[in-house]
Amino acid sequence: TVCMLALDSQQRMAVGTSTSGLFMKRTGRVGDSPLPGAGYYVDSQIGGAAATGMGEDIMKASLSYETVRLMGTGLSATEALRQAVYPFIAKLQDRGEKPREFSYVALRADGDFGIATNVPFPFAVAQADGPVQVYNAAPNGDHPII
Ligand code: ASP
Repeated sequence: TVCMLALDSQQRMAVGTSTSGLFMKRTGRVGDSPLPGAGYYVDSQIGGAAATGMGEDIMKASLSYETVRLMGTGLSATEALRQAVYPFIAKLQDRGEKPREFSYVALRADGDFGIATNVPFPFAVAQADGPVQVYNAAPNGDHPII
């Protein structure tokens, strides 16, 4: 899945996801990517978030919505993702499930962005008047530029 979060100069935001779904998926399977709240969510007053990875896990919670809600309380994108995503991973593990690969990106309306992932995850940030920066996020949330 490719997730895109956009913020224009008038503080309008948009989010989009594009996916081929799951390799060898069953006919009729609908993954998380078209599901608002789970696969993506945006509110121009606050920010947006989107997910990629194993839809069967991502669809168990509405963490894109939850991340935006938490950013609306004043949290940074990184902190909102941490509070939304990492407890969810712990909850799956507590239930004896083995979380599969997934990653979330978030962008606040003030331009602050963050990532939460349980696998190494590259992502890019482009600005109208600047270079495209490519980052490599780690499961602990660090995202050095590569
Ligand atoms: N999230 C997608 C799905 O489960 C797959 C992916 O991100 O690669 O349909």
